[in-house]
Amino acid sequence: MPAEIRLFMIGSDNYGVLLHDPATGATASIDAGEAAPIAAELEAAGWRLTDILVTHHHGDHVAGVEALKARYGARVTAPAHDRDRVPGVDATVREGDAVAVGTLKGAVIETPGHTLGHVAYHFAGEKLLFSGDTLFALGCGRLFEGTPAQMWNSLSKLAALPGDTKVYCGHEYTLSNARFALRYDGANPALVARAAEVERMRAENRFTVPSTIAEERATNPFLRAGDPAVAAAIGLPGASPADVFAALREAKNRG
Ligand code: ZN
Ligand code: FE
Repeated sequence: MPAEIRLFMIGSDNYGVLLHDPATGATASIDAGEAAPIAAELEAAGWRLTDILVTHHHGDHVAGVEALKARYGARVTAPAHDRDRVPGVDATVREGDAVAVGTLKGAVIETPGHTLGHVAYHFAGEKLLFSGDTLFALGCGRLFEGTPAQMWNSLSKLAALPGDTKVYCGHEYTLSNARFALRYDGANPALVARAAEVERMRAENRFTVPSTIAEERATNPFLRAGDPAVAAAIGLPGASPADVFAALREAKNRG
């Protein structure tokens, strides 16, 4: 039986995601920024929380962990690097480790950059990626702890996943990301079309998540740092993709 997903907002722009295995009834919350909206979503679905898969230690991703664990007895899986910065950790994971939600099988991809311990969870059989604050729709996370080279490497790993992988990210930042992307890749027809669609969707307050790896490869400027047009647009023709990526991230930080 295929996995079921519920996607909802937590606060103004954090995404909540529940991953449910109908074969066993197991249900995971990817991160847990706030307990109440996650519990409400579980109740609405009639699902019982068995797992919390943490991508990184930031409060908007873990502040609800303890309350949910107390209420449901859910098992908390977190990056080994963040063992002391995530509450209630039961299991720690590293690159390539397996995770299971009932019969659904996932693998851990270490993606340092936004934070040093950040991980993504890839469920290959379900074609699902939970990318946290590493890869956003049309964007990427800020570099709070890691270097641009680390983040470029992390994003490159995610970009190499199969194109039909659905990408569930941690925040709805897509409109601002789309407007930024057009400044450096405005001659890319796939981006122009996607940006227009994002403008329409956000005007109707619709979710722009999930996207796919193929869409991100074609339109996300941070994944297109190796494209000569993007390098030229940021004023670094001929530079390495990692250097172009660093310059793009700097430009995005400035607004
Ligand atoms: Zn974060
Ligand atoms: Fe976040």
